[in-house]
Amino acid sequence: MILFENCRLFDGLGTELRDGCHVLVEGERIKEVSDRPIQAAGAEVIDLKGRTLMPGLIDAHFHAMAAEPDFVKMEDLPRSFLHQHARHLLEAALLRGFTTVRDAGGGDYGLAMAIKAGLIEGPRLFYSGRALTQTGGHADFRSLEAGHGDYCFCSQSAHIFGTIADGVPAVRKAAREELRRGATQIKIMASGGVSSPSDPIWNLQYSEEEIRAIVWEAESWRTYVMAHAYTPEAISRCVAFGVRSIEHANLIDAETAAACAAAGAYVVPTLVTYEALERDGPELGLPPVSIEKLKVVREAGVQSLEILNAAGVAVGFGTDLLGAMQSHQSGEFSIRAEVLSPDEILRSATSVNAALLNVEGDLGVVAPGAFADLLVVDGDPLADLSLLQNQGAHLAVIMKGGHFVKQSL
Ligand code: ZN
Ligand code: ZN
Repeated sequence: MILFENCRLFDGLGTELRDGCHVLVEGERIKEVSDRPIQAAGAEVIDLKGRTLMPGLIDAHFHAMAAEPDFVKMEDLPRSFLHQHARHLLEAALLRGFTTVRDAGGGDYGLAMAIKAGLIEGPRLFYSGRALTQTGGHADFRSLEAGHGDYCFCSQSAHIFGTIADGVPAVRKAAREELRRGATQIKIMASGGVSSPSDPIWNLQYSEEEIRAIVWEAESWRTYVMAHAYTPEAISRCVAFGVRSIEHANLIDAETAAACAAAGAYVVPTLVTYEALERDGPELGLPPVSIEKLKVVREAGVQSLEILNAAGVAVGFGTDLLGAMQSHQSGEFSIRAEVLSPDEILRSATSVNAALLNVEGDLGVVAPGAFADLLVVDGDPLADLSLLQNQGAHLAVIMKGGHFVKQSL
């Protein structure tokens, strides 16, 4: 047992810190939270001396396998190389305080196994496996030149980030393949995107029949679909057809946001990736076609937060950073602070994301029975969100499942 004494508590749900709290961890879970001293014979006692204790952070849009920004190139890189990169990216995310990440394409059963086996000291991994994409869709990373000859994409295992499936029987089978391998949710591409070579941002992807079939397959496994979508039209189609998690949503308007709220859908903005791509992308090898497309979505990004907030949409927290740009993961906090209050932002990254991942009460809160995924912050993150920056430098303790990842007290 481990007893954290004398902390200021952000429990993941509230609007302010509670002073003078005590938290007892037994095994991998939290046993007790109290504003009175806890008696626990034999427990290791850590006096936090008024530091802040809070739930581990959750990033709901992560790509462990994205070693660099050029997906066309990455599909040709050796898996063994990408796996080493994934290890590096996952371990760095955990040291920034992200004790859970939801992988939005590429991350798979093997990586989750390696984390469970302790080969990678990484966050809990909720993985989609390969994203489902239509031919020419946002996860069809064949270069336009490659599409002409007898290029063979018949072997499903050839892909890393996406699986190309067209028509209802094919999308059902593709979804079932990912669910069979334990995907915690199914990812689909429902509009054009920045990093793919052929599709404009405004392009609508997947028919109603295809999306409804994928949603049915996911729900039959008691899970849900997350969809990449930028425009109001793409987003409203997804929500009407049963998609639960809308990714990015940069170009959303008030009417579409209201539809999301009414349907109980979540929206997961990933604003930091557009800033990072704008700043570092060209130097890191982002292709010119992507640089052009980036402008359209980047400028609308921050305004989308205001629209979502005004409509009362459940806003998750994601980053979607690629390769070396993942070091900017915590930059998402400061971008959101231009529009939202710190407690709203931290709830997004803890309890709201936990509800989105269907693990309400298990993750994203400091409460009895929850997993002991905990951070100790040197200071008050509600007064100064920059305490979450600098690659975890202000985190005195990082605990995942009752195990110390970092303990510098
Ligand atoms: Zn996307
Ligand atoms: Zn993504």
